[in-house]
Amino acid sequence: MKATILGAPRDIRLEDVPDPTLVAPTDALVRVTAACVCGSDLWPYRGINEVAEPTRIGHEFVGIVEEVGAEVRSLRPGDFVIAPFKYSDGTCPHCRVGIQTSCVRGGFWGGPDRDGVMVDGGQGEYVRVPLADGTLVATREVPGDDLVPSLLALSDVMGTGWHAAVAARVQEGDTVVVVGDGAVGLSGVLSAARMGAERVIAMSRHASRQAIAREFGATDVVEVRGEDAVAAVNELTDGVGADAVLECVGTDESMQTAIAVARPGATVGYVGVPHGIEYPVRDLFSRNVGIAGGVAPVRQYLPQLRDDVLSGAINPGLVFDLEVPLADVAEAYAAMDERRAVKSLVRP
Ligand SMILES: [Zn+2]
Repeated sequence: MKATILGAPRDIRLEDVPDPTLVAPTDALVRVTAACVCGSDLWPYRGINEVAEPTRIGHEFVGIVEEVGAEVRSLRPGDFVIAPFKYSDGTCPHCRVGIQTSCVRGGFWGGPDRDGVMVDGGQGEYVRVPLADGTLVATREVPGDDLVPSLLALSDVMGTGWHAAVAARVQEGDTVVVVGDGAVGLSGVLSAARMGAERVIAMSRHASRQAIAREFGATDVVEVRGEDAVAAVNELTDGVGADAVLECVGTDESMQTAIAVARPGATVGYVGVPHGIEYPVRDLFSRNVGIAGGVAPVRQYLPQLRDDVLSGAINPGLVFDLEVPLADVAEAYAAMDERRAVKSLVRP
């Protein structure tokens, strides 16, 4: 089969790799029908994360179950399934409390499992899915093509934006600030609006991203950064600040902005992978501002968000502004790297 390989920084290619087969009785074999490129795929692509040797890549995909192992109970061939960005068993102590990203038997796509057997990356034609019952979420029927982008968005960005809103404890009627206008930040806007926030202030300097944010429910847009952004939120909220803040970037500047716009007693829900952040503990203490969040257990939110997509309540697939065939996967990366695209969808 064909699968995407990152050979070295900025060297993305489609190569022939061995066809996956069922290995464990808990495995499923999935034919990928759509996959996408994540902002976090750009770190090794840009060489920010070291690429020691050529590696399979891609952790966001949907597809059709081709085959299941003897112990798989919840899936059968022909099912349309959504894969979260990590696999998990659904039964260990951490899965049972909804933190499937810490599953004791779980792992990432695109590398060996705990027995040393390759688990395929998502940007390829087929994937061997370990722990299929715990990992995959199926739809009752195979959805129409128009719904595929929104279902695919649940594999990572929408679930991650949702987690930011859950961690920030967004309540009905709240004023919410979302820091970050990437696919996750935009999904955070959609999540806050879906949870009943009355006012959603999106921070964005890009017209195309502002338009998606408005579509997703943003009531206000702040175009400036840093201290100017804090002043702008201060003015918009009559000096009170935000009831909940979603930090969807992970830089020190974005975190300091998020903390500064939080009203006393508010929580900053953070899902941006932290790079060089230092918390102002005295300020957090004196204003009772909490920090919560982390790597998003998107598997926990998948059933609910799947139903919301199928009912038409949410349409997170709007974050995709480029679609290419798998053969052009290198362009999917280049477009995001050069900021010509917010998020790229790839079709095998
Ligand atoms: Zn587990």
